[in-house]
Amino acid sequence: MIPIVDLKRQYLSIKDEIDGAIRNIIDNTSFIMGKPVEEFENNFANYCNAEYCVGTSSGTSALYLVLKALGIKEGDEVITVPNTFIATSEVISQVGAKIKFIDVDEETYNMDVEKLKNTIDENTKAIIPVHLYGHSCDMDQILEIAKEHNLKIIEDCAQAHGTKYKDKKIPIGEIGCFSFFPAKILGAYGDAGCVVTNNEELANKIKLLRNHGREKKYEHLIEGFNHRLDSLQAAILNVKLKYLNEWIERRRNNAKLYSGLLKNVIMPIEKDYSKHSYYVYTIRVKNRDKLQEFLKENGIATQIYYPIPLHLQSAYKNLDYKEGDFPVTEKIAKEILSLPMFPELTEEEIKYICEKVNYFCK
Ligand SMILES: *Cc1c(COP(=O)(O)O)cnc(C)c1O
Repeated sequence: MIPIVDLKRQYLSIKDEIDGAIRNIIDNTSFIMGKPVEEFENNFANYCNAEYCVGTSSGTSALYLVLKALGIKEGDEVITVPNTFIATSEVISQVGAKIKFIDVDEETYNMDVEKLKNTIDENTKAIIPVHLYGHSCDMDQILEIAKEHNLKIIEDCAQAHGTKYKDKKIPIGEIGCFSFFPAKILGAYGDAGCVVTNNEELANKIKLLRNHGREKKYEHLIEGFNHRLDSLQAAILNVKLKYLNEWIERRRNNAKLYSGLLKNVIMPIEKDYSKHSYYVYTIRVKNRDKLQEFLKENGIATQIYYPIPLHLQSAYKNLDYKEGDFPVTEKIAKEILSLPMFPELTEEEIKYICEKVNYFCK
């Protein structure tokens, strides 16, 4: 079976370094907020060409902490898209605000900027664009609209480590949130995430909120919570970050191979403004479910990100959305299929996968 992602291959390629980093934490018993946390924060801020990085316990925590720190609350509205992982929208309700979905662009699967203009009203406080699959949103347009309406932009970068927009690594605006869930482009060996920002005041507020509102051990300036980045995860991420650019290039090569070999399917596009980092390689076909079944029978694992748009989920019945509200999202949810994608995927495997897809889609 060719898996959708194989974390074992990557581990084996850097086993000694990873094992050493883990051993070191255990030897020092510095499990909570140990040195690797600050080291990783510095390293990842540098990687993103940003001023600050604040490690968190997950990507979800990172998004939540940003909304909290910005003071977004009951009565406020935050705009995002319905074709994303529920973490993007969950955090909006979790701070008491209202979710407003808008549809996506059929080519990039990212936020449809035209729809944005008509959705903003006096209660809108922020926008969460998602750089889905590793392709950047058209940030200049989004930032311009945000500026005009005095809105905060929080970029959900969970699938887009190292992605560039016009030669600049994301986040492009003031704030970006990353996930280091194991299968992500940069993945820990458990849950982890971070906020990247150039806003010092915001970074400091998030540092307080993630760690019980304290600067010193038992001195609490405000009430916070426990959303800390684990030392073991930070140590692992420090090792893996060194290889990130190389891994992204391999992902891009794999995507190029796929796109050169596949026929009769809609392939991912890469707009001039975006350098795609290919978290996933997602195609679109009309008889998707049958293709998925056929590939499974031929030993090829696939995934659907995401089969049920958020506005049609039971969790969001209370929002009163209905089928037909976001036609592009609903259409692509029926057609998308992600093929195996990870840096260590071999050329032979890609050729085999394309052969099977082409056979089915002829
Ligand atoms: C993975 C993901 C998250 C959440 O990250 P976790 O680390 O799993 O909490 C948020 N948004 C998107 C788009 C994601 O893919």
